[in-house]
Amino acid sequence: MAYDLADAIALARANKAQGIAKAKLPWREKKYRPLVFTARFGWKVRDGDRLLLSLGRLRDRIVLPVPEFTDRSGHLVTPERWGEMKLCWSTVARSWALHISYRAVDDSLPGAGSPEAPEPGAVSVHAVTVAVDEGVINPMTLAALGPYGAYEVLVINGRGARAAKQVRNKGMARLQSKMSCCRTGSRRHRRLAEAKRKLRAKTTRRLRDFNHQVTAKANRFIRELVAAHERTTADGTDVVVRLVVGDVRGIERNTEKRRRASRSTRQQLSQWERGTQERQLAYKTGLPIQYISEANSSQTCPFCLHRRKVRGRRYVCANKACALVLHRDAVGGVNIHTLAVNDGTFVPVPPGTDIRVKYLRAQPGWSSGQRERHGFHQHAQARAGASRWREARSSAWYRATCTADVGDAGVAAVPKGEPR
Ligand SMILES: [Zn+2]
Repeated sequence: MAYDLADAIALARANKAQGIAKAKLPWREKKYRPLVFTARFGWKVRDGDRLLLSLGRLRDRIVLPVPEFTDRSGHLVTPERWGEMKLCWSTVARSWALHISYRAVDDSLPGAGSPEAPEPGAVSVHAVTVAVDEGVINPMTLAALGPYGAYEVLVINGRGARAAKQVRNKGMARLQSKMSCCRTGSRRHRRLAEAKRKLRAKTTRRLRDFNHQVTAKANRFIRELVAAHERTTADGTDVVVRLVVGDVRGIERNTEKRRRASRSTRQQLSQWERGTQERQLAYKTGLPIQYISEANSSQTCPFCLHRRKVRGRRYVCANKACALVLHRDAVGGVNIHTLAVNDGTFVPVPPGTDIRVKYLRAQPGWSSGQRERHGFHQHAQARAGASRWREARSSAWYRATCTADVGDAGVAAVPKGEPR
């Protein structure tokens, strides 16, 4: 703890010396503080099934079952690969969480360097450009050329996140208006504040899961595309990937002053999780993100370069001779790809090019063990009768069976005895 404080003071002084005006010395009294267990002395595994966390010479150790978790490729991470651990209070999960660091296998995709300066003496390189169009409704649309010259487009739907955000916004507003009617610090006020914290934590968990769903689907799309290109290119050619994102940074700023958007649109924009998703995608693919201007990319027809305003989800080309009909975000993705390949100018896509659009929905999934727990609770609910559910929850049988601690290992609670 003293080391942490000393580090923080040193960092603040260094920042001040560099002229960062915001730098402050540590001033807040921390309520929670992560406990760090180092690899050699802090934690050890005994008998292969118990994890001992040392709290110092005179204190009792924390004993836990050895946690099991997998890395991104689905392989079990054994304690030999573990490093430092941190025991943290998670405000989102509202419980203690043990963070374990481990050495991961580097599976990042080969990234293309800056396109102007290819490495000297490099073998022949086949560059694949993946364009990403981001939106509020469909968080990510990926467009790239497949190995046979057709466009592969993936539209990831974001309805789940919008629903979660709306539940939160409406619920927060309702609780806030109730809170404004009661005295600060009263019992009712405290309860409403607690309900607000719970709602916020629940939404944060839902959105985190959603963001991972989106970026995992995008990551899989990119990896499958690269694999397809690797199969078709000649031996000795390296396939490198360029990840280009239409630059929408800063759209959410200054919307109120200039009244560019309605109130609800402004709220949607400010709650857009674009940055988080970009970070996750860059991390999962191991590629740096390049930003290019996406001006007019959603209004221009990729085949004939006619421009029009789009309403709704469908893009219909205004040019009668072309009459393209395509998903609006797919148009944006293809155009960003064109801009990225041609240094920021629109070049018509050759007529007759196939554009294959695939839609995926990013839905909140089940965590490990959740399905069993859900099944058990559904069963209990059916026994109690759906209409009597509220009373059943306070019944002696419910308290005897359902308060059994559901462990993190994913084991469903088992009834202690049959009712009646
Ligand atoms: Zn057209």
